[in-house]
Amino acid sequence: MFTYYSISAFINFLVSFLLGIFVLHKNRKEKLNRILSFWCFTVAFWSFFYFIWQIETKEQMALLWTRLLMLGAVWVPVAFLQTVVIFLKIEKEKKYLIIFSYALSSVFTLLLFTPLMVKKVEPIAGFEFWPKPGIAYIPFLVMFVGLSIYAVLLAYRSLKKETSPKIKLQIKYILFGMAISITAGSTNYFLWYDINIPPYGNILASTYVILTVYAIIRHHLLNIKVIATEILSLGILLVSIVHILAAENFIKLVINLIIFIILLVFIIMLVHSVENEVQRKEELQKLTKKLAKANKKLKKLDQAKSEFISIASHQLRTPLGTIKGFASMLLEGSYGEISEKVKKVLEKIFISNERLISLVNDLLDLSRIEAGKMQYDFDYRQIEDIVEEIKETLSFKAEEKGLYLKVNFPPRPLPKIKIDGAKIKEVISNLIENAIKYTKKGGVEVNFKQKDNLIRIIVSDTGIGISRDEMPLLFSKFSRGKNVGRIDANGTGLGLFVGRKIIEAHGGRIWAESKGENRGSKFTMELLIDGIKKAF
Ligand code: ADP
Repeated sequence: MFTYYSISAFINFLVSFLLGIFVLHKNRKEKLNRILSFWCFTVAFWSFFYFIWQIETKEQMALLWTRLLMLGAVWVPVAFLQTVVIFLKIEKEKKYLIIFSYALSSVFTLLLFTPLMVKKVEPIAGFEFWPKPGIAYIPFLVMFVGLSIYAVLLAYRSLKKETSPKIKLQIKYILFGMAISITAGSTNYFLWYDINIPPYGNILASTYVILTVYAIIRHHLLNIKVIATEILSLGILLVSIVHILAAENFIKLVINLIIFIILLVFIIMLVHSVENEVQRKEELQKLTKKLAKANKKLKKLDQAKSEFISIASHQLRTPLGTIKGFASMLLEGSYGEISEKVKKVLEKIFISNERLISLVNDLLDLSRIEAGKMQYDFDYRQIEDIVEEIKETLSFKAEEKGLYLKVNFPPRPLPKIKIDGAKIKEVISNLIENAIKYTKKGGVEVNFKQKDNLIRIIVSDTGIGISRDEMPLLFSKFSRGKNVGRIDANGTGLGLFVGRKIIEAHGGRIWAESKGENRGSKFTMELLIDGIKKAF
């Protein structure tokens, strides 16, 4: 059953079939690829039925297989010739020759279903069913050899004219492959005419397919997944075709045909979906690459921005400090008495300058955080003291707006905690300042809670509240609510961002809650009593 001949035929089939799929896959739209794969498939078709013929045990079937293998053989030379013609870009000149060759091959195809090509099969040289030729067989051989040799001659001629070393090498590959295959493949024909040379060389018959495909498409890669699916699918289909052909009666034939159709539909769907998937994957890969590039650019830009902010704010700090110094000296009367009118103006200058200083400080904090250079100075502190200090400075702001600022200190002092006092003060100040800023009526309340190892400071207000959409962005840098500009134009959207970073560096948490717009907000800050550990 599985002899050297059947196995070699199977190998030929596999090789040429795989190459056909590969070529088609490389570029379906390219004419050269299409014809190259057609040629591979003709060789594959021929080898496949050669294999089936070799393992067949019934005479009638063996005759059918030899005719089918001949069907592949009839189309091999014309496909090869056309491949060479297209590769050499001499399609126009050889147009009529190609049409003629196709017509000729079609005639031989029709003859295959008569005894004119393959008359019968009979035992010879150890083969049980070797075909015997009909009268049309010689003309077929003439066509086969004629077209193949003509193609080789065309390639050989252009080898001399060709100047590109790459194409020259490609042509050499084709010629070399052809030489091996013609020599080896010719061993297939002796037994037809009772010359006792078995088809030893058959295994090399697909060499020219390998070398030509290699020469034409060698510097590209293919997608293994699609090819694997297609090979498997086609393998299944071929088996199914064999089943149809081998059906013993009409009912079996119909059943096999139905199975084949169902298989075909499923396989087309499968191949399609795999192709789609691969295509999407490739697109995704491209996109990811683009995104990575864009991301790199953005990171660079972000870095440049951080450096700019850092430099600019350092430069701003000194003059702002000077302004603050002179303004307060003027206000204190260090440069002589000043009128009430001038004093009012000076106070305005002082307040605006303070705002600028706090903005510059926020920016500096931001650049330090981004550069990972924020430094902390930890010490044991009583948190109520810090809140008391803040209350003293901010209560006048609340009063100004007609709001209350109520701090409900705990009945018993909380334990001292290890924190950077100045920074925690900055965070709580910002929470209370925000609460005052974003409240029109009512006021602000500060509460303390202690639970196990945690201390919570809760700042709640009766202000504009926070909408659902804005909630997730609250702690991002430069993020300000949509409508806050109308309420308070002063703000950078940095306070909460910096605040969260500071609290996180303490191992704590900070979050906001709100029942919605105009329903007040509640900011909770949670710190650990014993040490700077991650809270959860
Ligand atoms: P800024 O106050 O400078 O805009 P923050 O980072 O401190 O920056 O706050 C960011 C945003 O969070 C504010 O613009 C505002 O939309 C919202 N927000 C903060 N605190 C409150 C609050 N108490 N009530 C309502 N919205 C608030």
